Amino acid sequence: RAKEAGKNKIIIFNEPMNEAVTQRAQIEKHLRTALERNEFELLYQPQLDMTTNQISGFEALIRWKNPELGYVPPNRFISVAEDTHLIIPIGKWVLRNSILFLKHLHDRGYTDLTMSVNISMLQLLQDDFVDMVTETLELVKINPKYIELEITESILMESYETIAKKLRHLKAIGVRIALDDFGTGYSSLHYLKHLPISTLKIDKIFIDNISVDKRNKCLTHLMVKIGKAMGLCVVAEGVETQEQMEYLKKHKCNKIQGYLFCKPLPYNEIIKKLERKP
Ligand code: C2E
Ligand code: MG
Ligand code: MG
Ligand code: MG
Repeated sequence: RAKEAGKNKIIIFNEPMNEAVTQRAQIEKHLRTALERNEFELLYQPQLDMTTNQISGFEALIRWKNPELGYVPPNRFISVAEDTHLIIPIGKWVLRNSILFLKHLHDRGYTDLTMSVNISMLQLLQDDFVDMVTETLELVKINPKYIELEITESILMESYETIAKKLRHLKAIGVRIALDDFGTGYSSLHYLKHLPISTLKIDKIFIDNISVDKRNKCLTHLMVKIGKAMGLCVVAEGVETQEQMEYLKKHKCNKIQGYLFCKPLPYNEIIKKLERKP
C-alpha cells in the first residue's frame, strides 16, 4: 500500500506494483498541501429538468491541478484522500464553497436552483458530520431544501445503522439525499428500502448503451419506474446522445446530466450560461 511505502518502510514489489505505489505516494505527498496551496477548484455540471426544459441545479465536481503532478482526476485522488483522511478537510471545503456559490446565484435572482455535493462515506462516519453540515448551512444562510448530498453504496454493514440515523437527521433538517451511481452497488434495493433517499441517480454505464443494448434499455426503464413509484426524483447521469435523452424523456425520467446538455463548468461560465437564457 502506498500509505505504508510513504512511511519509510522498505517493501519489495514487482515492477508494476512498485510504480503504482510510487504514484500513490506522490499523490499523497502533494495532496497534504493541496488545500493550503489553493490547488483545488470546483466545476459545476448543470442538471436539466425534462419537464420544464430548464436548468434546475448543479452537481459540484472537484478538480485538482498540482504544479508537479499536473491535473489529477478525482477518480485517482479521492481514494488516496480517503485513506489518509484528508477527505475530511477537502470535503468540508467542497461543501462550503459549492454552497457559497449557490447562495451567490440565489442572490443574483436564480432563487430555485439546487446544489448537489458528493459526500464520501468517511465524512458521513465522522461524529460531527451533521453538525458540520448544519453549521455550514447556517453560516451561508441558505435553505437546506436546495442542498442535496450524494452518497454511493459502499457503506460497511457494521456502520449501517449509524449512517441511516445521520441521514434521517439530515432529512429532518430539510437536506435532500441522493443515491449516486445507482445500480452499480450490490445492494441498491436494500438501500432504497432503508435509507431516507430523495433522489436516485442512474449510473452512466446503463445510459451508455441504451441504443444498442436491449438489456440496458430494460434496466434503465425499470430503474426509472422504481424511483418514480417510490416518489423519488430520478436523474440520469452521463447522457451523451439525443437518442438517450429521448428514451429517458419517454419514460419520464425527471432530470438528465451529461455532455449532451453541458459539461462541468467553472463558476464564471455557469453565470454566463444562466444569463444567456431568458
Ligand atoms: P460522480 O459523482 O458519479 O460524478 C459524475 C462523473 O461523470 C463526473 O466525473 C462527471 O464529470 C462525469 N460526467 C458527467 N457527464 C458525463 C458524460 O456525458 N460523459 C462522461 N464520459 N462523463 C460524464 P468526475 O468529475 O471525473 O468525477 C468522478 C467521480 O469522483 C464522481 O463521480 C465522484 O464519485 C467523485 N468526486 C468528484 N468530485 C467529488 C467531491 O467533491 N467529493 C467526493 N467525495 N467525490 C467527488
Ligand atoms: Mg455524484
Ligand atoms: Mg460517485
Ligand atoms: Mg455517479
